[in-house]
Amino acid sequence: MSVNKSRQRLIKWVRRYPLIALSLLAIAYLLGGFSEKDDGLISQQLITTTLYLFVAAVPLGFIIAFVVVGRLGDLENVANKQKESDLNYQDAFDLPSQVMHGYKLAMVTGLTPTLTGLTGDTYLSDAQAICKANSEHIPPVAQCECGFYAYKELADAQFELSINPGAFLLDVDLFGLGFTYKNGYRAESQVVNQLITPKRCMRCRVLPAKVFVKSFKLGYEDTTWWQWQIRCVVCSSSFKPADKLTVEQMSHHLAVKIN
Ligand SMILES: [Zn+2]
Ligand SMILES: [Zn+2]
Repeated sequence: MSVNKSRQRLIKWVRRYPLIALSLLAIAYLLGGFSEKDDGLISQQLITTTLYLFVAAVPLGFIIAFVVVGRLGDLENVANKQKESDLNYQDAFDLPSQVMHGYKLAMVTGLTPTLTGLTGDTYLSDAQAICKANSEHIPPVAQCECGFYAYKELADAQFELSINPGAFLLDVDLFGLGFTYKNGYRAESQVVNQLITPKRCMRCRVLPAKVFVKSFKLGYEDTTWWQWQIRCVVCSSSFKPADKLTVEQMSHHLAVKIN
């Protein structure tokens, strides 16, 4: 199992922990572990010891597991960096070529909707990467971080989406010179094939998502921005018509197919 898969599995278990703890409490209660008289099916002593162990030992286990997984991830990164610096650039035609199809996350921000990476960089649906750190760079440069990134696997992008609920899933093709890194690619140019919207409203998460709305977000250091979400009929009803876009209108603004 890769380091990334272990990390994802670990986070899933951390999310389940409160539910498991509550279930244990309920079972303990039903078995009479909290009754005044010690005549339940199991002794109060046993229940309290088990609960103490669960409350103290399990989070400690999670912390240790995170430290181990983090350390393994660092080692993997170092190994990848070393592999990258082994690349021979003398002849770009020697680089292995492959179709770099992938998935990534983006927010839609701005008065006029614009694709925005999670790091805050905006881009068009068909774009060349620009390096902010060094204007001499034609991204991607091995020692730098520039270039367009994408995950190889849909599952990796979907997992990231579950921890970035304000973002949308993009289906992309990367072109030009590219590197394989950790779980995906970093490349020179990018074409966004499709924006995949969630089936349900991004606010109530119950009713079907129907219409894009923009709301005002307060950022750090007096910065403010508009962020777009797709919502249901109810959660979008208080918005003025000027703050709403249909799926077709959004698709036209972004020049990207939606769903
Ligand atoms: Zn660069
Ligand atoms: Zn809703």
